[in-house]
This record gives sequence, C-alpha cells and structure tokens, in this order.
Amino acid sequence: MDCLFCKMVAGDIKPDVVHEDDQVLVFRDIAPQAPVHVLLIPKKHVTNLDDAEPGDAALLGHILLTAQKVARDLGVAKDGFRLVTNCNRNGGQTVYHLHFHLLAGRHMTWPPG
Ligand code: AMP
Ligand code: ZN
Repeated sequence: MDCLFCKMVAGDIKPDVVHEDDQVLVFRDIAPQAPVHVLLIPKKHVTNLDDAEPGDAALLGHILLTAQKVARDLGVAKDGFRLVTNCNRNGGQTVYHLHFHLLAGRHMTWPPG
C-alpha cells in the first residue's frame, strides 16, 4: 500500500520520533502549527476514525493514553494541549492513515478553522 505513514512504520522514511512502542509511533509534524506538534499513529494501517472497527477499541484507547504520556513527557500536560483527528474531506484529512495531532505550547482558539 502506498501510504506515507506506513512507510514510516516500516522504516523506509525516518520521521523525528519522540515515542514508540509495539502499537504506536509518535513523531514531530513536518509543518508544525504550534511550538509542540506531534502526530500519534497506530502502526497498523487504519485509514481514519471512520475506518476503525470495534476490534480497534483497545488500540484507540492506547493511543489516547499515549497522548497523555507524551504530553506529560514533553512538559505540556499541565498548561494544556489539544488532540485532534481530521477525518475525510470535510474534516481536512490529507494523509489517509489514522493520526491524532497533539498541539501545545500556545493558547488554542475555538472554534477551529
Ligand atoms: P491531516 O491534514 O490531518 O491529514 O494531517 C497530516 C499531517 O501530516 C500534516 O500536519 C502534515 O504536516 C503532516 N506530514 C505530512 N508529511 C509529513 C512527514 N513526512 N513527516 C511528518 N509529518 C508529515
Ligand atoms: Zn498506512
């Protein structure tokens, strides 16, 4: 499958990794939108949240707890952060491998654009 993030999981493209375990890879976004901007992805290819299945429940929960850990490790948990997943066209998804943006280091506005 011609998927950018699967190539990162395979090691063919080397992102700036901040955390990795057997299920997830966390790396810095190449075009950061905040002082801290990392992406959390499952190593298994899931296209987006619309593609997730009940059997992915534990994986999805693990990604959320990994976001908590990474936010703490990067020292942004107490000041706060935003976790976002963009799904399909109206959600603004551009890479079709499930990922969560963890944004921090500045005050986030609402509503998002
Ligand atoms: P989305 O628009 O929600 O699908 O997010 C895709 C994200 O992937 C964007 O924030 C991009 O900046 C980021 N991105 C694209 N290519 C790379 C790359 N080679 N390394 C790190 N992040 C990337
Ligand atoms: Zn993929």
